[in-house]
Parts: sequence; structure tokens; C-alpha cells
Amino acid sequence: MSCPLYKDFTRECVKHYNRILQFSSYDICESDNYDECPLYNIINKKVECCEYTPACNEKMDFGNWDFEYLKYVANNFCFYGRKGDCAIYKLRTEKKAIPRALQPDGRMIEGRVTHGME
Ligand code: SF4
Ligand code: SF4
Repeated sequence: MSCPLYKDFTRECVKHYNRILQFSSYDICESDNYDECPLYNIINKKVECCEYTPACNEKMDFGNWDFEYLKYVANNFCFYGRKGDCAIYKLRTEKKAIPRALQPDGRMIEGRVTHGME
């Protein structure tokens, strides 16, 4: 079974999170594991979620993230009341500028970010 938000080979989640278009793989959308997708969980309000996800959708460079890294960020920072551990969240609440390379765990990484990197 595929994701209910994946219809006629189109990801309807882009109406909410347009930057998802930068992910080229549809594997998760076409699989039984679609409920592991952070966007599916945000849109369907399945989890408690940081209020800044729309802002991060607009500002963060998803094109540099692989999908596993998105899941890592969602599960370790954006979901389940863990936003207070996010370096970006702290800057947003203080209304400070956010460096483009800053990651939620505080590392500064330019270019492609993949899950499991050192
Ligand atoms: S699995 Fe995620 S990315 Fe794919 S259609 Fe569903 S919500 Fe969108
Ligand atoms: S926890 Fe951090 S990365 Fe996630 S939405 Fe909030 S500010 Fe953005």
C-alpha cells in the first residue's frame, strides 16, 4: 500500500511542504512504511511537532539532505517535545540569524548531509 498523500504519481504533501520536491526518491511514498515519513506524520498530526516546521520548510536547504537524515532530524529534534535540543530552534526563539550550514545538532555542514555521517 502506498501513502494516502501519494496520488496519481503526485505527492500531495507538497501543498504543505513544497521543498519536499527536492527529494528525488519516491520509495517511501510507494511503500508500506509511509507512516515512517516525517511529513506524513506532521500533516496528519500523528506526533507532537515543533511549531517552526513551516519556517524550516522555507529556509532550510532540504536539497542537501537525504531522506534518512530528515527522519533523524524529525525524530531527534522536531518531534516528541525535543525541539529544545535543536540549535536552530534556539536561534529562532531568540530571533537571531540562522547560518545556512547550521544543523539541528549544532554542527556546521556545507553541502550534502547524509544520515550516519561522522
Ligand atoms: S510518504 Fe511522505 S513524502 Fe511521500 S507522499 Fe507521503 S507524506 Fe509525502
Ligand atoms: S526542531 Fe529545529 S529543525 Fe525542527 S522544526 Fe523546530 S527549529 Fe526546525
